[in-house]
Amino acid sequence: AKLRVGLLFGGRSGEHEVSINSARAIAKALSAEQNANKYEILPFYIQKDGRTLAGEAPEKVLATGTPLLESEESTSVGNLTSNPQAQTLSKWQSPSQVAQVDVWFPILHGPNGEDGTIQGLLTLMQVPFVGSGVLGSALGMDKIAMKMAFEQAGLPQVKYKAITRTQVWSNPCVFPKLCDEIEAALGYPAFVKPANLGSSVGIAKVRSRQELEAALDNAASYDRRLVVEAGVVAREVECAVLGNDQPQASVVGEITYDSDFYDYETKYTEGRADFLIPASIPDAIARQIQDMALQAFAAVDAAGLARVDFFYVEATQEVFINEINTLPGFTATSMYPQLWAHSGVSFPELVDRLIELAIERHSPS
Ligand code: ATP
Ligand code: MG
Ligand code: MG
Ligand code: MG
Repeated sequence: AKLRVGLLFGGRSGEHEVSINSARAIAKALSAEQNANKYEILPFYIQKDGRTLAGEAPEKVLATGTPLLESEESTSVGNLTSNPQAQTLSKWQSPSQVAQVDVWFPILHGPNGEDGTIQGLLTLMQVPFVGSGVLGSALGMDKIAMKMAFEQAGLPQVKYKAITRTQVWSNPCVFPKLCDEIEAALGYPAFVKPANLGSSVGIAKVRSRQELEAALDNAASYDRRLVVEAGVVAREVECAVLGNDQPQASVVGEITYDSDFYDYETKYTEGRADFLIPASIPDAIARQIQDMALQAFAAVDAAGLARVDFFYVEATQEVFINEINTLPGFTATSMYPQLWAHSGVSFPELVDRLIELAIERHSPS
């Protein structure tokens, strides 16, 4: 019998459209010649309002690539992300479509998608799923916790300061002192980031006290936890990791663009950024980056897949780890599958491998 793959996509995050495109590419790969006899796709679409649809509606989204907002309750399997606390397992397990799934393939980005929440629900269901578990997902999402894990592993990072929303908003006497400390410790330019987002949402590059204050206030509107980092002038390189306890690293790829930094617009506007795979960097540096990518994967307890982002300072030959992404963009043109394509693993092979890794992790021999 074919293995029924529950393709879980969409979601309430700002990366809803990216998720649809990733799911389309994965669905196509599962129907490719080498996979079609092995897998059957059961698509589940989380609408922007959080309701999850099974059956024909998600098929339509996969076919058209366009978000859907259905109001009928008929096909809904429950409100997944708008109130995850209230989401009962019974509601999720009762619809026959959910019970039929042999292995889940969540391809959701951002909060409630790659932060361990959905992974917790899937863990409770006791059905294998692609990618990291609760711990790996949570550590990979929160930039403060991630940095602490990287620090423990001895991975070099840029200087940073962890800050809370309370420090920014609730105490007018503390705020100027906080800004003084940030300026003294990190200087300008600096990067202000909400701790739990992706796609550069809420991130600002600041060059003055005034910009710092405004960016902290803005980032605090996205998240309780914030980080400020010293800005580096560096080339941006990424490495893909695949595997569970003996993961492998792909070739290293470079991203180039014209903008001030790799912001949301540059990421998602056609033609604004270019990938160079493999990156034209010295072999020793590439090997160092691959090694660091594997260390980062282990440091957060990632599983299945991850894309690890780095800064390479050419002048000093220094490499700093920026972050790990446990559910990276997975469209046909995304960095993660392209890095593997250049490493000898085709897109359909990659998807097949990830599902096998999910099953292996669920039932270790
Ligand atoms: P992703 O979409 O990869 O998950 P993200 O939202 O998690 O992104 P980061 O990767 O932390 O955000 O930062 C986004 C971009 O901002 C980087 O790719 C880089 O261009 C720029 N950037 C972030 N931090 C720094 C820094 N300390 N120095 C220089 N540039 C930086
Ligand atoms: Mg990220
Ligand atoms: Mg991300
Ligand atoms: Mg990044």
